[in-house]
Amino acid sequence: CLLCRNFPCKQQLSHLVHVSSPCFTGANGIRLTMESALTARDRVGVQDFVLLENFTSEAAFIENLRKRFKENLIYTYIGSVLVSVNPYKELEIYSKQNMERYRGVSFYEVSPHLYAIADNSYRSLRTERKDQCILISGESGAGKTEATKKILQYYAVTCPASQQVETVKDRLLQSNPVLEAFGNAKTLRNDNSSRFGKYMDVQFDYRGAPVGGHILNYLLEKSRVVHQNHGERNFHIFYQLLEGGEEDLLRRLGLEKNPQQYHYLVKGHCARVSSINDKNDWKIVRRALSIISFKDNEVEDLLSIVASVLHLGNVQFAADEQGSAQVTTENQIKYLARLLAVEGSVLRDALIHKKIIAKGEELISPLNLEQAAYARDALAKAIYGRTFSWLVNKVNKSLAYEFPGWRSTTVLGLLDIYGFEVFQHNSFEQFCINYCNEKLQQLFIELTLKSEQEEYESEGIAWEPVQYFNNKIICDLVEEKFKGIISILDEECLRPGDATDTTFLEKLEETVKNHPHFLTHKLADQKTRKSLGREEFRLLHYAGEVTYSVAGFLDKNNDLLFRNLKETMCNSENPIINQCFDRTELTDKKRPETAATQFKNSLSKLMEILMSKEPSYIRCIKPNDAKQSDRFDEVLIRHQVKYLGLMENLRVRRAGFAYRRKYEVFLQRYKSLCPETWPTWDGRPHDGVAVLVKHLGYKQEEYKMGRTKIFIRFPKTLFATEDALEVR
Ligand code: ADP
Ligand code: MG
Repeated sequence: CLLCRNFPCKQQLSHLVHVSSPCFTGANGIRLTMESALTARDRVGVQDFVLLENFTSEAAFIENLRKRFKENLIYTYIGSVLVSVNPYKELEIYSKQNMERYRGVSFYEVSPHLYAIADNSYRSLRTERKDQCILISGESGAGKTEATKKILQYYAVTCPASQQVETVKDRLLQSNPVLEAFGNAKTLRNDNSSRFGKYMDVQFDYRGAPVGGHILNYLLEKSRVVHQNHGERNFHIFYQLLEGGEEDLLRRLGLEKNPQQYHYLVKGHCARVSSINDKNDWKIVRRALSIISFKDNEVEDLLSIVASVLHLGNVQFAADEQGSAQVTTENQIKYLARLLAVEGSVLRDALIHKKIIAKGEELISPLNLEQAAYARDALAKAIYGRTFSWLVNKVNKSLAYEFPGWRSTTVLGLLDIYGFEVFQHNSFEQFCINYCNEKLQQLFIELTLKSEQEEYESEGIAWEPVQYFNNKIICDLVEEKFKGIISILDEECLRPGDATDTTFLEKLEETVKNHPHFLTHKLADQKTRKSLGREEFRLLHYAGEVTYSVAGFLDKNNDLLFRNLKETMCNSENPIINQCFDRTELTDKKRPETAATQFKNSLSKLMEILMSKEPSYIRCIKPNDAKQSDRFDEVLIRHQVKYLGLMENLRVRRAGFAYRRKYEVFLQRYKSLCPETWPTWDGRPHDGVAVLVKHLGYKQEEYKMGRTKIFIRFPKTLFATEDALEVR
C-alpha cells in the first residue's frame, strides 16, 4: 500500500468504507484485482458492525469479531460506539506516530481506534465547547483501565503544552500508579484488577490544554483487606512496601520483609505473581507520590497506616474463663499504638469491649472471641477504606485547577467502572455493581435515542420510533423509596432485634412478590424452583438473570464499626487518621448512611454529571480467561456480548439508517461514478448527490436526503456503490 507500505495494507483494509484505492495497491505499485480485494475484505471483516448484512445474528457478530481479532484488529465500531477486544499482547498501535495519525481526522477515514474516540471527543469539546464523557465498560480484565490510561496518554501527547500544563499532565498520569497501588489487586481474573470504580474529570482551558482534574471513587472492595480468595492477593501496596521499602523504613514501621508473616497477606497463598514486579512498582509509586506533591512526612504517615493494617491482622485473642476475649499479642499493640498514634491500653480495651449508649448511659460489655475478631477486621477495613478516600482527596487537591476568574474551562470525563458481574455465587457487591450497570444502561438508552432523535430532527427526517427494552422498571425495583430492594434492606438494617438476612429475604418476598423481574424459591413455579436456593433471590437484569445469595447482605450494608473503636481513632494523632475519623460522627444522633444508600446516592450524582455531558462509549471484551494472547473463547465472548448489550445496541443503531455522511464527503468519494458529477460538480453538494444516487439507481426506500447528510438504510446499497468504484 502506498500509504502504510504494508502488503496487503492491514490498517486501511480493515476500513471497509475505504475499500478502494489507494489501499488496494500493493507495495510494488500494482493494483490488486477486484477478487483479491474482496477476499481481503472478507478476511478482516467489517470495521463497523452496522455494516453487517445479517445484523440481527449474534453468530455473524461474533464471527466478525473473530476475524478481526485474528488479524490483530482489536477495535470495531457499532456506529460511534467502540468495541475493543483485549489482545493480551503489546500491539504497535499506540506509538506517537499513530497518535498523530488520528489527530483531527474524521472518524471514518482511519481504522477504528481508541484514539479516534479520544480525538473525536476532544474536538467536540473544542469546537462546540460542550463537556464530554467517555464511558468505558466491560468485565474484569477486559481492558478498561488500560484504555483509560491510553486515552490520558493520548491527551498528554497531543494537547497543547506549557510549563504549568506539563505539571498537570504529569500529575494526571502519576495519579494512576498511586491509586492503583492502593486500589488494585491481583485477582483470578486480572493481575492488576481495579477494586474500585473511578470517574475522572480532565479540565481543559480555552486553548485546549489540560489544566486540572478531579477524581470520584466508588465502592472500594474493602473486604479484600482482611480476606482474599485462593489465588488472589491483598492490595498491591502491602507487597510493594514489604518488597521495596528501605530497611530503615521497615524498621520504623516494625515490619519484616516476608509477607508470610502477616495474616492479612497469606489467605490467598500467592504473595508473588510472575507478571508483577513489586520492588520496581514501589519505586514508581514512591516517585509518583512526590510528583503529586506528597511531603516526606505525609508519606511516612500514610505508610504508617498501611503498616498498622498488617499489624492489626496479627492481633490475636484468647478467651478467659468467662469466655471473654483477651489480647495475646502485646507486641502488635505496641506497634499499633505508635503507628496510629493512639494510647495502647485504650486501643487494647477497645478491641475487646463494646460500648453502647442507652438512655444516656454508657454500657460496656466484653466481646467473645468471634466478636473481637470481627471488631478487629472491621477496624482494619475502616482504616484502609477511609485512608483510600483520603488519598483520592489528596490527589484531587494536587490536580485542582485554580480558576483565573474569567476563563472558562471545559471538561472531559473518563468513567472506568466495573461491568456486569455474574459469578457462581453472587453477593452484596455484585448486587451493587449490577445495579450500577442498570443505571448506566438507562443513561445509554436515553442519551443514544435522544441523540438519534435529535439528528433526525435537525436533518429534517421523520423520526421512526425504535422498539427497545426500557430497563427503568429494574432500576425502580432496586432504588424506589419504601418499596425498592435497597429501601427494604435499609429498613431491616435499622430494625432493632432479630433482623437477619433471612428476614430481609422474607420482607422482600412480601413487598415485591409480583414484580416481573424478581423471583425467589418460594415465588417460583415448580420448574424454576429447582434452580433457586432458599437463601437466594433472582433479578432479571436487562442483560440476563443473576441469582444473589442474601448471606452477608445486612452486615455488609451496615458496615458497622463499634463505637469505642471509632472513639479511639478520633483521638489519633496520626494526621491522616485524624482527618479520616471525624468527631462529629460520635455526637451525630443520625445513623450513618448504609453502604447501599451511600452507593445509590453517589450513583445518582454520577448520572447527573454524565447526563450533562456528551457521551462516547467504549465496550471492552475479554477474549479468554487464561490472560493469553491469540485465544478467542467463543462461549466467554458470547456471554459478554450479551451482558454488554451489544446486540441491542446494534439493533437500535440499525433501526434507522446504517450509514450517513455529509453530502460533500459522499460526493467527493463517489463522483466518478456519474458523468454529470465527474470531474467536478458546480452546484450545491446536496443536488450533486441527488443526481448521483439517481444515476446509481438507488430506490426510494433505500435512502433519505437530510439537510446536510445523506442517510442510507441498508449496507448492501453502500457495498454495491463501493464495488462499482472498484470495477470502474
Ligand atoms: P480491566 O480494567 O478491564 O479489569 P485492565 O485494563 O486492567 O482490565 O487489563 C487487564 C490486562 O490486560 C492488562 O494488565 C494488560 O496486561 C492487558 N491489556 C489490556 N488492554 C490491553 C491492550 N490494549 N494492549 C495490550 N494489553 C492489554
Ligand atoms: Mg481496571
